[in-house]
Amino acid sequence: GLASLAPLLRGIQNQQYGAYKRLSGAFTSPAYELHFDHIQNDLFAPPSRLRVRVPQSVAGFPVEMLANKTRTTALADFVLRAVYRYILTKSPRRFSRNRGRSEGPHSPRRGLLAVDVGGQRVLPRSALLMDTENVELRFYYRLPAQADPAISALTELLPKLIKQTLHYTSYDAAAVAAFVDCVEDQATLRMLLREHGLVAFVPNGAILPRESGASDRPLATADAVPFQSPPSLEVSLSLPHRGKVTGMGIRRGVTLIVGGGFHGKSTLLQALEMGVYNHIPGDGREFISADVGLLKVRAEDGRAVTRVDITPFINNLPRGKSTQNFTTADASGSTSMAATIQEGLEMGCTGFLFDEDTCATNFLIRDYRMQHLVPKVREPITPLIAKVRALHAEHGVSSIMVIGGCGDYLDVADTVIGLDQYVPADLKIQVADVVSRFPLPSPPEADGESYGTLPTRRPVFPAFTDGKPLVRVSALHQVTLLVPLASSSGVTSDVTAAGMETVATARAPPSEPIWDLSGLDQLAEVAQTRCIAGILETIMVHQQQNKQQASAKSPTMREMLDEWKARFGQASHAAVVHPSTKVGPASLPSPYAARLPGNWSEPRLLELGSAINRLRGFTFTT
Ligand code: ADP
Ligand code: MG
Repeated sequence: GLASLAPLLRGIQNQQYGAYKRLSGAFTSPAYELHFDHIQNDLFAPPSRLRVRVPQSVAGFPVEMLANKTRTTALADFVLRAVYRYILTKSPRRFSRNRGRSEGPHSPRRGLLAVDVGGQRVLPRSALLMDTENVELRFYYRLPAQADPAISALTELLPKLIKQTLHYTSYDAAAVAAFVDCVEDQATLRMLLREHGLVAFVPNGAILPRESGASDRPLATADAVPFQSPPSLEVSLSLPHRGKVTGMGIRRGVTLIVGGGFHGKSTLLQALEMGVYNHIPGDGREFISADVGLLKVRAEDGRAVTRVDITPFINNLPRGKSTQNFTTADASGSTSMAATIQEGLEMGCTGFLFDEDTCATNFLIRDYRMQHLVPKVREPITPLIAKVRALHAEHGVSSIMVIGGCGDYLDVADTVIGLDQYVPADLKIQVADVVSRFPLPSPPEADGESYGTLPTRRPVFPAFTDGKPLVRVSALHQVTLLVPLASSSGVTSDVTAAGMETVATARAPPSEPIWDLSGLDQLAEVAQTRCIAGILETIMVHQQQNKQQASAKSPTMREMLDEWKARFGQASHAAVVHPSTKVGPASLPSPYAARLPGNWSEPRLLELGSAINRLRGFTFTT
């Protein structure tokens, strides 16, 4: 029982560090259970992993707060933030100064106890799980050299923390409801977009700019120009809690965001990129909403591309290299964009976001003079301008593009939003005037042609080496990839998820990441990267298992993502197992499995698929 914890710790007081291993397992009481899931080997190892579980009969969070996944997620996020604040106020300085492995901004905070709290977004997080049965908090604690501080931390501070933050009665009910309702409204708004023919929405009064390039907090009110929709683009939507919300609706089709340099174009696009997530109240971007199927596309020089049909955009490469089945370990700006678009369509995207700043110019246009200088037969690239209308007409896929210099696009746009000193205007009349006065000498190349073929592929991961999966999530919550490096095939190498953007080999410099996710602008936090790597492990374990069972065909990319969509939807920590303990179709593990780390957050399916598409060392069949 829990009562034995203090005596046990006192017994460890003057012993070797290894004596802490005696704490392994669970200490129970009617009020809560305390689990030691992993105990660090020495003082300097990554911190120990612990878990507290409080039954709802004690915690008392009302069932209407847990009515659906959105509300549950919001409530858990709210409680986790309260836990974090509580720990901060109680942490003695000397603990927060503890030096250790450097971790990203969203990693477990250093201090007395550490939790992986989120930033500006509200996401399902493994640090705090909530259902109608239990509240479960997963945290980290660096066990001290002498057990004394651990006695006060775990037998005095922790019970207080539980009472103060994991019991509903310690909260102002109105404040909890306001947070949960705000998040539910945001999720509802995103669902409403499609009904109204919209792909995105920006409410009047929203604060788009951030404090700085390095901060995700809003720019101070005194400096920020609040968003105000042009009257002609204004729409009003009705939300369950907040009621009517009015702002700019971006319709399906091709939308351009134009304007002078430094007038706020990229800031608007970035707000839309993040509009696929719900934000905390006060962020300034609450209710900026984007269809969950929107994917940012950018040039990613050097990315890996594996067996993608890029023929809609690229044909007749030098030396007869196939573009129907295009593979490269080092893509160019334009081939990377072609691949990302085709992969996006394969995954079921509903729209693309482009910023001219980060696109390859030769992928966007081929202007009049170039068409004459370099004949079409010598140019492998059909630029996006020739396909962007067909994308919408044939596949219902919209595009929102920030354009500063390529005026040719005015010919193919449905809507043109002009930004002037951060204030948007509907440029419909001005555009019609410019287009008629300065017609293009020839229509965009290949105008009228159909879009071309869409890929359907089945990812096939390499066979395990020595029966080990290629990705492993260790007890220390480090994600490890054991991938045969393309350059030295057959050699396995330990790789860890170092930051949000890269999964790099432990010893190789970050300039040689094996799994480079820096092109995924909509990946929001490193906790999502960890989850993605963990899911990859599961997928590969499962695929290996299936291979042994029968000649089962591996699922297509779309099927794979759909399966994860269903699994995220049913997320509950009660009924699932850790991937390494049991794997099979009937017991597919969830990222919320009981023994999994407390520092994962749920990625969007498009980031999961995009990450897989950037993995080196695997292949696809059709
Ligand atoms: P562009 O892409 O048009 O060149 P940016 O979007 O990069 O311009 O914005 C330029 C600068 O203006 C950035 O520092 C940004 O934070 C700031 N900014 C953008 N929108 C606003 C706004 N609504 N109010 C105040 N500052 C803004
Ligand atoms: Mg810009």
